[in-house]
Amino acid sequence: MDLSIVIPLLDEAESLPELSSWIEKVMNENHYSYEIIFVDDGSSDNSWEVIGKLRENNSQIKGIRFQRNYGKSAALNEAFRAAQGDVVITMDADLQDSPDEIPGLRKMILEDGYDVVSGWKKKRFDNTLTKNIPSKFFNWVTRRMSKIKLHDFNCGLKAYRNKVVKSIEVYGEMHRYIPVLAKWAGFKKIGEKVVEHRPRKYGRSKFGWRRFINGFLDLMSITFVGKFSKRPMHFFGLWGTLFFLIGLGISLYLIISKIINFDYGLTNKPGFYLALTALIIGMQLFLAGFLGELISRNAPGRNSYNVESKIGF
Ligand code: UDP
Ligand code: MG
Repeated sequence: MDLSIVIPLLDEAESLPELSSWIEKVMNENHYSYEIIFVDDGSSDNSWEVIGKLRENNSQIKGIRFQRNYGKSAALNEAFRAAQGDVVITMDADLQDSPDEIPGLRKMILEDGYDVVSGWKKKRFDNTLTKNIPSKFFNWVTRRMSKIKLHDFNCGLKAYRNKVVKSIEVYGEMHRYIPVLAKWAGFKKIGEKVVEHRPRKYGRSKFGWRRFINGFLDLMSITFVGKFSKRPMHFFGLWGTLFFLIGLGISLYLIISKIINFDYGLTNKPGFYLALTALIIGMQLFLAGFLGELISRNAPGRNSYNVESKIGF
């Protein structure tokens, strides 16, 4: 199969018929063999019925329905497990991404050898203040942190080599950082393509102001996880030791000065409380490090090691 088109959706019933017939048109013009995987992420409108109707006319259309709303990342992850196409394309359901971009994206994967190609909404049809400016900031930080040269990490329109989607686990709200996940899994050729972006035609945006808080927290955890998930002690242990040594140093100083000077006002000194606090914080960090080590040692290790090829099996 040439292509899997993956479309996560939440309450997008109005857009679906238009979107699927547009995709079909592009597929037929290019003679691709394909599947369209709609993932209904717990819609409360009649999206699921619409998907059923669409499938009656085109057996290439497949659907996955969640029992409740799990989020875009979960929807993508589920579809990635199922996708059979050599190239996997993700796009939003709201007609903001154009199916006409699919052949170009596919070409970059198959002919130019990219593992991941991310769309870049260079000319963007969203609210400037609430979306475009914060998104510039996120992209800048993510670029610096991950060293991946992309302008638009969170673009819904992306293309992946099939192997990539099978090697990554998109959990939490990590759909904003899938190129980073791909890089961690060892896929180095990550490129971008300027894509047409369109104003939302039906319905409304599903991500409110919370996107900034969640996006920021995810950025912190992805930075941390990327660096230390396999060796939490290297982070917690370092800071724990540092705090502990500071506490110990101050304590020793206080004790020695007490012995030498017969200075009884030990608890009146700010240093005493500093030492106490530093010792406790140091111990806490150490404990956190040990717990982290225990957890990562006992974790199942799914997808931790991405085997590139095998011989003799
Ligand atoms: N979406 C989803 N689950 C959610 C939120 C959104 O599957 O919990 C889908 C949504 O239906 C759309 C895509 O993710 O197909 C992008 O969402 P939206 O267009 O609301 O985001 P925006 O374009 O405003 O960033
Ligand atoms: Mg949208």
